[in-house]
Amino acid sequence: MPHLPEGLLNRTSLLPGSTPDGSPARVLLKAASAQDLSRELSLAGVEKEVLPGVRIQLKPGHAYMLIITLGSGEFYSANENADYYNERAGKVVTFPAPIGQKTMVLGNGIAENHHTFTDMGAVYRNHKTQLTHKVPPSGAIVWDRFNERMHRGELIAELPISGWETELDMHERGIPLMWSQGSGCPSDFCGACGFEFTSRKPSRCIHELQEKLCIRPDGYQNCIYCPDPIFYDISYVGANPAAKIAFGLRKLAQSEETMSLIPKMAESDPGIVYHKMYCSGRKPAAIVLDKLMQEESLVSDDMVPGIEQELLPEPMLDKDFVGTCKKIDLNELLAALLELKIMLTPTQWWRIFNPETQGEPSGVSGFLGALPTVFGQAALGHEDAFLRDTSYLPTRSAPPHVLRQLEPFVSDLAVKPSVKVIIIKRATAHVCRPKPAAKDLYLAREYARYQLESLTAPGMPLAARWCALVNKAGI
Ligand SMILES: [Zn+2]
Repeated sequence: MPHLPEGLLNRTSLLPGSTPDGSPARVLLKAASAQDLSRELSLAGVEKEVLPGVRIQLKPGHAYMLIITLGSGEFYSANENADYYNERAGKVVTFPAPIGQKTMVLGNGIAENHHTFTDMGAVYRNHKTQLTHKVPPSGAIVWDRFNERMHRGELIAELPISGWETELDMHERGIPLMWSQGSGCPSDFCGACGFEFTSRKPSRCIHELQEKLCIRPDGYQNCIYCPDPIFYDISYVGANPAAKIAFGLRKLAQSEETMSLIPKMAESDPGIVYHKMYCSGRKPAAIVLDKLMQEESLVSDDMVPGIEQELLPEPMLDKDFVGTCKKIDLNELLAALLELKIMLTPTQWWRIFNPETQGEPSGVSGFLGALPTVFGQAALGHEDAFLRDTSYLPTRSAPPHVLRQLEPFVSDLAVKPSVKVIIIKRATAHVCRPKPAAKDLYLAREYARYQLESLTAPGMPLAARWCALVNKAGI
């Protein structure tokens, strides 16, 4: 890789899984010859007029994948990190709450700089691009262009088949592979106040720290302008949430390394950045987590029978619901549940997502026992990566037919934020719980992430009490 300029601010953006018309945003090009490649590209929606420009020396033993990269901020808005990439140089932006100059002319945009993907970029896994990572690139970027009509980028990644069997096999089976692009900018500018952030000037303004993507009273949504980007990385970052769980469990089954999938909790991290704070409806994950922990501390073991009486779904309905959910594409399911304000209980989630189990769970004590530990560690350690993960938030709205399938369950199963609990006092012996197995801990962690993501999603009432109750009762 050519030497990148010093002092860049590194940015990553999760790329879309599909285009607005629903077609996949990445296509494996089944190319054995240049002619095949032309045919495949035309099937993948790349217009005929660019085809003569595609000159790729096809290498034996390699697979070629067309990947759609980030779109212009003017057309697709900021990404989930609030990063806004202008399309072209010369865009004039106005700061609604300026600390200095009121307007600014942005530098090069993605249209001018998209070629840096092929000039300086390569394929990696999980953004392990730094020299200190000591990981060589896992593939090459052999072609790229900015698609003028669609206001977005496209590139072709060349992947050596010998290193990508698992992923290519998953792709063949229709499991979407998630990609993320990495870029570096000399500096960023807060869209609200114009504050310049560089690698040498690590302080940030309040908008970047706490109000990313917040919609101001004047209607402006806080974003961060990222002009003059250098694109140097297209990274595979995993599969979709459902497959991610399956993959994680398979890795656990193969390995005795039980703790490898549980990232180390930070000892102390006072400077937690509220990554997602939306003024309207969406609460920052850390605040939701605190609320959840507060509610959990109020639920004692004595209350469990009362909670069960109040919240346990009718067994046949519960079984019917889980059966229906299992037939739905898991990403569409997550979108529909969020829209209908149904949050899966721990056992429902376990039965739907645990890929190893058919039918009803035979015993989930380890998983449920692990759940409070996960929330506790995340809250105490302010674990940033845990709070940042947005993989359970659906990227698209649910198709109408899926909503129709699940609507009959809404009245019984939707979240009830103001639930009252009849407390039945009963003597409970203090039971020392065994340490949960790695698999249970992994699943509990995934469930905690799902629950937290659902609670921070726009439109979901803050139902921390409901969550605390169902978690405690293991419903
Ligand atoms: Zn600012």
